[in-house]
Amino acid sequence: AHLDRIAAVDPAIHAFLHVSSDEALATAADVDARRAAGEPLHALAGVPIAVKDVVVTKDIPTTAGSKILDGWIPPYDATLVTRLRQAGLPILGKTNMDEFAMGSSTEHSAYGPTRNPWDETRIPGGSGGGSAAAVAAFEAPLAIGTDTGGSIRQPAAVTGSVGVKPTYGGVSRYGLIAMASSLDQAGPVTRSVLDSALLHELIGGHDPRDSTSIPESLPELVAAARGGDVAGMRLGVVSQLSGDGYEPGVKARFDDALALLADAGAEIVEVSCPSFDYALDAYYLIMPSEASSNLARFDGMRFGARTLPDEGPVTAERVMAATRGAGFGPEVKRRIMLGTYALSAGYYDAYYGSAQKVRTLIQRDFAAAFDKVDVLVSPTSPTTAFELGAKLDDPMAMYLNDVATIPANLAGVPGISLPSGLSSDGLPAGFQILGPAKADDRLYRVGSVLE
Ligand code: GLN
Repeated sequence: AHLDRIAAVDPAIHAFLHVSSDEALATAADVDARRAAGEPLHALAGVPIAVKDVVVTKDIPTTAGSKILDGWIPPYDATLVTRLRQAGLPILGKTNMDEFAMGSSTEHSAYGPTRNPWDETRIPGGSGGGSAAAVAAFEAPLAIGTDTGGSIRQPAAVTGSVGVKPTYGGVSRYGLIAMASSLDQAGPVTRSVLDSALLHELIGGHDPRDSTSIPESLPELVAAARGGDVAGMRLGVVSQLSGDGYEPGVKARFDDALALLADAGAEIVEVSCPSFDYALDAYYLIMPSEASSNLARFDGMRFGARTLPDEGPVTAERVMAATRGAGFGPEVKRRIMLGTYALSAGYYDAYYGSAQKVRTLIQRDFAAAFDKVDVLVSPTSPTTAFELGAKLDDPMAMYLNDVATIPANLAGVPGISLPSGLSSDGLPAGFQILGPAKADDRLYRVGSVLE
């Protein structure tokens, strides 16, 4: 049924870069056989899933939204994909994304944009717009995204879906094509809070192949999602994440959700996190710095479709330059240049060093806040889905979409976005809940009350 749905609507939505029909049907048949044989199965066995194309999948093409990886078929599975396969989730295919996960609209994909199922003239968010659109368009009941600065939560918000960025180290990064290794986390995109908890528990937990993976087991997420009780909990409204620039309709839905939570017995308090005002600036130095280093492997020698120079001698250096010149799109080149500059001798202390100090201040703001409250809340994104093309020529306007989501990545804390209703323009708005590191269960406990 989901493959039929993809065939019917994906020509218009373009959520998928690759549909792996044969493999999905084979897995479904295998699960049926195991069920018929009376084998105990995972709760999600047989439930199809879409996977963001930045996650490597053995024998299924993986491009990260870039021309430089066009035609690459990975020889191994990411750890989270191994876990999906072992539990018997049919993989429907790979979803569209901004090239190397750089963007907030999926318009930076080298393979053309994805459209928002709520209004096809609008963006589905980014960078994981394909995963969110697939879920919102009923092409897939579950999807995997990755979130470096908001790429799970912001697309979830603008498509009326649920998206979770787990605690850093909570889900293995083994087999994720790295953008910024200290910020990247994979997580679920679904239509309900309980579905996210089920998927998060399945893909999460320690992995010896990721040196930053948290050794202890995850808290009970499914139980928390079923538990739904906020009586006596303290919720902090971050004053820095609701001011100018947030659309009135988005704020109104945020206030409605707060009122529901207060009715359910939560205590709502205002919390100030002054360093959050500098989070975007710090992120756009740290993220490009790490990306400039991570993307060095795409040189036509180790990874990447090789391009030879048009003329002149074919030296290694000139082949690398031709490969990267032809293979990377403009946003990727912009960030490699920014990152290389920020890391260069003479500028390192002023830019990268300062940004790391700001990151420490943001971590301290979170720590001080979580001394006073159980979770922090804010709108997920300042606006609803904007028109395709509206911010494509203005990188700063694009970057501003992530003001509310970036602090969590800089501090490694978990965050969820869930629908808070339709804004005044008739489009979905998102409600964000942030918890302390390793307390991902709190997101599900609070989130389930709003569902
Ligand atoms: N939109 C942000 C960026 O462009 C976040 C991307 C992400 O989380 N992958 O960097």
